Amino acid sequence: MSFTLAIVGRPNVGKSTLFNRLVGKRLALVDDQPGVTRDLREGEAKLGDLRFTVIDTAGLEEATDESLQGRMRKLTERAVDMADVCLFLIDARAGVTPTDEVFADILRKRADRVILGANKAEGSAADAGIYEAYGLGLGEPVRLSAEHGEGLNELYSLLMPIS
Ligand code: GDP
Ligand code: MG
Repeated sequence: MSFTLAIVGRPNVGKSTLFNRLVGKRLALVDDQPGVTRDLREGEAKLGDLRFTVIDTAGLEEATDESLQGRMRKLTERAVDMADVCLFLIDARAGVTPTDEVFADILRKRADRVILGANKAEGSAADAGIYEAYGLGLGEPVRLSAEHGEGLNELYSLLMPIS
């Protein structure tokens, strides 16, 4: 049986980079500048012998500070409701931010299954952020580097039982 994974988290943590890596086609736009991707994007993911649907939550990049919280809440809740499992990404180099805490709260309340991913974890600059991530109360963070393709074996072993 297949399943749906939603990649959620605040702008710029690397959601679309991971989505593109899993889908293998550039279906989601990735950009250094905010304001590029929109709304929810769906693709067929391949990870080892697993095949599943993956959702990229975009569309938050151009929100102003005042509208960000409401928009990201709605969009994230939609993705969570569509998904069997959520991959909540933080930027391990930036550490846990107040916006990450808002997302963590949404997920704790709404998602059945959450995998916490500490992205941008290549190299030692991420160590402090990974340590902070334990404090989100969403279990042990998975060290990921969407850009370098690191941590995908661990992600595979967490998703395998769901498939
Ligand atoms: P999104 O807004 O969450 O979809 O984030 P993007 O996928 O658009 O990535 C935002 C920025 O982070 C881009 O400049 C990416 O190249 C960069 N990025 C994504 N993954 C990694 C990673 O694993 N390591 C590092 N160092 N940068 C990353
Ligand atoms: Mg994106």
